[in-house]
Amino acid sequence: MSESSYGRLRIQMNKAFDIGVESLSRSGGAENGGLVPNHPSVQTGHNVHPSKFDASGRINVADGVVSGVVAAPGRSFGDTAKGGTFFLETFGCQMNDHDSEKVAGLLLSRGYRQVETPEAARMILYNTCSIREKAAQKVFSRLGEYRERGADKIIGVLGCVAQQEGQDIFKRAPWVSLVCGSASYRKLPEMLAELEAGNKRVTGLDNDTDETFETEITRRDNPWRAYLTIIEGCDKACAYCVVPHTRGPERSRGSESILREVRQLTELGYSEVQLLGQTVNSYVDPTARGMKFSDLLLEVAQVAGIRRVRFTTSHPRDFGADIVEAIDREPKLCDHIHLPVQSGSTKVLRAMARTYTREDYLEKIALIRGAKRPISITTDIIVGFPGETDADFEETLSMLDEAQYDGVFGFKYSPRPNTPSLALNDPIPEEVKGQRLAMIQEKQRVIQTARNLAMLGQELDVFVSNKSRRENQWSGHTTSNRVISFSSQERELLGSYVRVKVTDSGTGSLVGAHVLEITTGEWGG
Ligand code: SAM
Ligand code: SF4
Repeated sequence: MSESSYGRLRIQMNKAFDIGVESLSRSGGAENGGLVPNHPSVQTGHNVHPSKFDASGRINVADGVVSGVVAAPGRSFGDTAKGGTFFLETFGCQMNDHDSEKVAGLLLSRGYRQVETPEAARMILYNTCSIREKAAQKVFSRLGEYRERGADKIIGVLGCVAQQEGQDIFKRAPWVSLVCGSASYRKLPEMLAELEAGNKRVTGLDNDTDETFETEITRRDNPWRAYLTIIEGCDKACAYCVVPHTRGPERSRGSESILREVRQLTELGYSEVQLLGQTVNSYVDPTARGMKFSDLLLEVAQVAGIRRVRFTTSHPRDFGADIVEAIDREPKLCDHIHLPVQSGSTKVLRAMARTYTREDYLEKIALIRGAKRPISITTDIIVGFPGETDADFEETLSMLDEAQYDGVFGFKYSPRPNTPSLALNDPIPEEVKGQRLAMIQEKQRVIQTARNLAMLGQELDVFVSNKSRRENQWSGHTTSNRVISFSSQERELLGSYVRVKVTDSGTGSLVGAHVLEITTGEWGG
């Protein structure tokens, strides 16, 4: 595959996560020379040529991974699916990325073949995000490209925009055949059957299901870190947020099913898993075992072959001492917590319906800072929420000083349909939002530079996930989710755990030198 087409594929499969436009991650993580590590909900792994999946189900470090059993290739689905090729582009958060992995797995199991360009596909699917207006607009501009040339294709809109706009998508883009929200993915096989039978308008828009989306196979894009959804939807009802509307009510997945998938992942060669949920720590096991989140973390860490367990996103209200105690007890639980604060002002937090005050949030930070080992904390901040005064914003700035984050993802407030904050008066001018975001970025830049500088000389455990084009240069993630580039004379390090001494630091990056290999026995976290 040529360099340019590989680059294009990366963009298509890795999608442009919207926060890149206006947040601190604009300048990217250390791997792309930026200010902060990648957002914990953004996939930083390797995207791969879809034709290189290892159909035997074994991990192949250079290529993508299919977990589970792959259906016999080349099954025919008649005229509608013609060749059964699909192209899938994903917008939005890690939850969407992982949903796409499951949708792709489902299509593969039905005999479809994934292709790398929309031109080569019979079926084009967009898994969409509507968290901010720009993300939703992007999807309609993609759909517009098929106004004239979509006649011989099946075009489908999945995810949040599908749920939000519903049947209206058919009015705006009559060439679309499938509109399906994430809470209806379970029914995708039936919907595909309808499309295959020639039905031109198929919808899946229920979001009152109490079930979760589990598939027999998942087409995994990242050969190093495997994602598992443990809780879907959200019951929190933050005033600005579309998620409760687009993803439906909160529903946790059974602990046995989660642990079974973790065991399958280790058989495929994964040693690092990341548990996902919009409010991952609100998890409550629906089965008779009734496990709480911290117990589940400890059990996942016990699965033979697991060396790192991550989780995101934690909601401050449900963040308790038991999670920190679990991290204290179990070194395989990573030293990183993403704990979105959104605002440092209690008045604004109330207006946002975040269910905690500034003081409550700072108590959670104190819990984490009291842990036996240093834990990296990252956060999300919304600037320019209706009614946010200069004094409120000052409180957000001072929150950065107090919390000492290792990464901040800032967003300009974007009014969204079906959200309570649409009705609020006192909008903040775009110009002021821009100024406030820039001030957050600058303050965090100074904090992060100092925090990274303080790591000089430390020896860190690194899971190596990238070989640089430059000779003897590698990079990987620390348990605190920092990306570190380092030099080593070793010939092959991909997929191994090594100890690296920090020799240099920048605002968003660390640089180091390989010290020694880590075997499973001596590895600590
Ligand atoms: N469930 C997570 C939580 O409670 O923090 C966040 C999920 S949301 C997909 C990711 C981030 O997008 C949020 O933390 C928030 O900062 C941002 N966000 C959500 N709605 C937004 C809006 N209407 N305008 C700007 N940013 C928004
Ligand atoms: Fe949205 Fe709030 Fe739920 Fe997070 S907790 S998904 S911000 S409603």
